[in-house]
Amino acid sequence: MEDKKLTMPMIALRGLTVLPQMTVNFDIIRDKSIAAVEQAMVGDQRVFLATQKQPDEVIPDIDGIFQVGTIGYVKQLVKMPGGMVRVTVEGQERAELLEMEKGEACCTAIVEILDPVEDDLDTIQKEAMLRILKEKLEEYGKLNVAAGREVLSPLIAQPDLTELMNQISAQFPWNYEARQSVLECRTLTEMYETELQLLLTELEVYRVKREFQTKVKAALDKNQRDYILREQLRVIREELGEENPVSDADEMKEQLKKIKASVEVKERIRKEINRFQNMPAGSQDANVIRTYLETVLELPWNKMTKDNASLKHAEEILEADHYGLEKVKERVLEYLAVRILTKKGTSPILCLVGPPGTGKTSIARSIAKAMGRKYVRISLGGVRDEAEIRGHRKTYVGAMPGRIVEGLKQAGVANPLMLLDEIDKVSSDYKGDTSSALLEVLDSEQNVKFRDHYVEIPIDLSEVLFIATANTTQTIPGPLLDRMELIEVNSYTENEKYHIAKDYLIPKQLEKNGLSKEQLNITGPALEKMIHSYTREAGVRNLERRVGDICRKAAREVLEKKKPSIRVTERNLDHYLGREKVFFDAAGNEAQVGIVRGLAWTSVGGDTLQIEVNVMPGKGVLQMTGQMGDVMKESAQIALTYVRSVASDYGVKENYFEKHDIHLHIPEGAVPKDGPSAGITMATAMLSAVTGRKVLPRVAMTGEVTLRGHVLMIGGLKEKLLAARMAQVEKVLVPAKNQPDVKELSKEITKGMEIVYIKEMNEVIREAFVPEK
Ligand code: ADP
Repeated sequence: MEDKKLTMPMIALRGLTVLPQMTVNFDIIRDKSIAAVEQAMVGDQRVFLATQKQPDEVIPDIDGIFQVGTIGYVKQLVKMPGGMVRVTVEGQERAELLEMEKGEACCTAIVEILDPVEDDLDTIQKEAMLRILKEKLEEYGKLNVAAGREVLSPLIAQPDLTELMNQISAQFPWNYEARQSVLECRTLTEMYETELQLLLTELEVYRVKREFQTKVKAALDKNQRDYILREQLRVIREELGEENPVSDADEMKEQLKKIKASVEVKERIRKEINRFQNMPAGSQDANVIRTYLETVLELPWNKMTKDNASLKHAEEILEADHYGLEKVKERVLEYLAVRILTKKGTSPILCLVGPPGTGKTSIARSIAKAMGRKYVRISLGGVRDEAEIRGHRKTYVGAMPGRIVEGLKQAGVANPLMLLDEIDKVSSDYKGDTSSALLEVLDSEQNVKFRDHYVEIPIDLSEVLFIATANTTQTIPGPLLDRMELIEVNSYTENEKYHIAKDYLIPKQLEKNGLSKEQLNITGPALEKMIHSYTREAGVRNLERRVGDICRKAAREVLEKKKPSIRVTERNLDHYLGREKVFFDAAGNEAQVGIVRGLAWTSVGGDTLQIEVNVMPGKGVLQMTGQMGDVMKESAQIALTYVRSVASDYGVKENYFEKHDIHLHIPEGAVPKDGPSAGITMATAMLSAVTGRKVLPRVAMTGEVTLRGHVLMIGGLKEKLLAARMAQVEKVLVPAKNQPDVKELSKEITKGMEIVYIKEMNEVIREAFVPEK
């Protein structure tokens, strides 16, 4: 026995079992396996091949390897690119793995050569088994014709049972587990039983497979038969002179004749109709195509309205629909003039940017009216999935075209004015990039052939006039922003709101609620109070709602109490609208330490924000709380550095900051604030807190500070000044570089407020601190 034990390099195989007399090629990549082959090559070229129970990356311990393997003779070894080695091995003898050692370089196995498979059968038994196996092979050949001749004929010609079984196990396309079970057989009987079992399983699989195929074919045949019968029925009806009921497909063909579209488009639709016609009615596929065809036939394709090219007409309509908005109207008219002259819509896309309720949608609607175009609005707020823009492929269950195509269908013409509302609110996530789909829609080079996944046929969007609206440009992706021409629509002043309400909103709501001017009169002071005490907004949307509330209540009173006319005054306003809803956080009268009022711009309008700073004994830590973004936190750091650098000028002791912590807080408002415009406010509050000097109560400020105390320019001035006004601020500190912006604003905004222009931080301190006596 002793001489049967051998020590040799070993390869743990993954998903492969090698049998004696089998020559195989395989690639190895793991370092240990490569080293094993290399070691074999310097010795007698023999290597032990055993199969891993799990085909994992790591080489398992002996328990994770099948015990019986094969000693192989390495015939060839070729280095491949990527560190791989291709080996050709011939299986020689079966052997049992006794011990295995995972060495530094390679694995070594101690194996014992197993006796050849024991012959435990007599001649008659062997002959019987031989015949049975051959019968099964023939059956297999009939079911799997592809495997046929080449493999099977030499097997069937084999006269010796042992040889036949060896060949079957080596040549049949079995997986490694099947081969392993053959490898482990110790007697001929065992081997015969294992192989027969495997063959029978294989036969069964083929039989079931064939059954399935036959069933599918029968179903297809039936569809075809139905179709032929239906056709025959049609012919018979014709022969009898009876009228055939008009089929859906015929109706669609009629419709197709009427639509205006290019030859190619019509041809493609016609093909689909033919396909539909040849499908069994009521089948799932037919329903999918029917819905598709209905959609496609409803699209406007080349149907268009004629533009009204009169600029004067446009001007009249814009004037009649909107109060004020001079700059916006001017820009819109310039834009229209260019369009009229160039005839083609290659001009950039307009984007109206401003807080909610300032009339952006309504301007777009007026532009459509002025040009005589159909108007459709596509709301993009919250669109996250590219498929919402571009549609789903029609193979999806319940697939639909995207919103752009839906918009066209709704408009019924190929050249509507399409409003892309809230373009700043689209977001991109894992389902594909919404903004790049939009980019394709808006790009005049690409949108001639816009592809909707559902419609499939390219659609020409070049005649559509796109206008977008947004609350802020900050969240619009750069490439989209690049394609658009921005027009800013600002917040309204109280005076503007008053006029809008009086001349537009009230008449509109009266008409909507079926009231006449005589029946309901809202007095001037009442309107002012509504604006001031019942609404707080940049636009006029809530104001319009409140007017609507009054109208509804009044309508009821007119009917129920038979009142001929109703007068809403300052005094009876609460009867209609309830108690005052809005209280302004007006500036107090008392000067305080460490509290300063700043001005902020948000996408929904201006706001004031109180910045609070407190100091306490500590180690020089700056703590920040409240609704602050990253930019603002950075500003706070800069402000602190500035304050430390000048503190000694204001009498603060040298080691003050090592011994104190500073806490900065922005208490109000749920809207997160960010952006660089509160620097000077924070610096002032900090300096006030560390020096203990008071800050004047009715002062507000806006501006960014640099490390050296220079004051930088800011944006959103109109909104900020309006907010300051609301808060009854008397003095506003504004960066000197913003002076031209202030000059552009109407007097109404700045009336009664002192605007002080500042260049340096020390001027801010001088203006904001209560003067020392
Ligand atoms: P946005 O699209 O900016 O959110 P809307 O266009 O929906 O605002 O405007 C809200 C309401 O206010 C509409 O009924 C609109 O007609 C009215 N409105 C806004 N601005 C004006 C204005 N300058 N003149 C007349 N009506 C206005």
